[in-house]
Amino acid sequence: MSKRCYYDVLGCKKGAPISEIKSAYRKLAMELHPDRNPGDTTCEAKFKEINEAYDILKDEQKRAAYDRFGHAAFDGGMGNGHGQGGNPFDFAGSFADVFEDIFGEMMGGQRGAKRQNRGGDLRYNLSISLEEAFNGSKAEIKVPTAVACEPCRGTGAEAGTSAETCPTCQGHGKVRASQGFFTIERTCPHCQGKGRVVKKPCKTCGGVGHVQKERTLMVDIPPGVEEGTRIRLSGEGQAGFNGGPNGDLYVFLSVEQHPIFQRDGHDLYCRVPVSFVTAALGGSVDVPTLDGGKVPVKIAEGTQTGRQYRVRSKGMPVLRGNGLCGDLFVEIFVETPCKLSKAQKELLRQFEETTQGCQPECEGFFTKVKAFWDGTATKH
Ligand SMILES: [Zn+2]
Ligand SMILES: [Zn+2]
Repeated sequence: MSKRCYYDVLGCKKGAPISEIKSAYRKLAMELHPDRNPGDTTCEAKFKEINEAYDILKDEQKRAAYDRFGHAAFDGGMGNGHGQGGNPFDFAGSFADVFEDIFGEMMGGQRGAKRQNRGGDLRYNLSISLEEAFNGSKAEIKVPTAVACEPCRGTGAEAGTSAETCPTCQGHGKVRASQGFFTIERTCPHCQGKGRVVKKPCKTCGGVGHVQKERTLMVDIPPGVEEGTRIRLSGEGQAGFNGGPNGDLYVFLSVEQHPIFQRDGHDLYCRVPVSFVTAALGGSVDVPTLDGGKVPVKIAEGTQTGRQYRVRSKGMPVLRGNGLCGDLFVEIFVETPCKLSKAQKELLRQFEETTQGCQPECEGFFTKVKAFWDGTATKH
């Protein structure tokens, strides 16, 4: 039996970004979902196939292994002497996991009753300043989550007692009732399908097994993060049910606007005003840098508004880029003086009389305009 390539199954190219794989999967899953195709075994088989493929390709580690070794990475056939058939990946419960990811909210929550459930993922929105994105920082966040109740260790039964097998269903979680010729099986009403009942509920959690707790977590924000960067805190999401693993906590970062610097990827932009005298004569201006320092930038004689100067490596650090940084672009704008005194105006008028040949843009423009009015420009 030969298996189809996982990429072919989802109709994606080998190097496709995860977003593409996710959307290809989502599209196929909607089409092939058993609820939409009741009784269609071909669809069911295909649905299983795309789920298997997605389960591997959505996971960076598994995908890398698949890219390298193909299906052999997961069939346990690669003996490497580690005594586990060489398969470093655990697939238990992964289908449920995928299912929950995509369909959890669509299908209205719980489907089967008695099974191990991974706890839900949590999202935390964290707003940071551009300086914090530049330097990296540590943020303390408080997350309200359901955690396993300590006194009863999540069982819901008071300390010293334990949950007992449900007397109604003898632990099966289901009961049968005869109706005429038929025997109908339904979820046990006594234990709601759990198979166990708590006689003496834990006082702390009231028998639920979970309590809401505010936990304080430290989030390490590495230098170079951007708007929308996600930081995953593995296992810090909601507690799992029936011994299932905890969900993850995702911290979504948003970076605030800065009054002086604008960011574009790894580069920073800073608009700096210079006096028209400096612009005309040339000079030097101190330009601020995001690390809190400054750097002198030489302004050339005759600098116009819009001219950019590049200061290398004074931009944003590249995330996990080993000290690599973008550049700082300094955009000059020339400020026209205002609120002039009489004497100053007189000086400027005298100056104006001497400017023949000093303002090529103005002179060139009017030459063009004159040609336009004369109709000579259109002949060429
Ligand atoms: Zn029961
Ligand atoms: Zn408890």
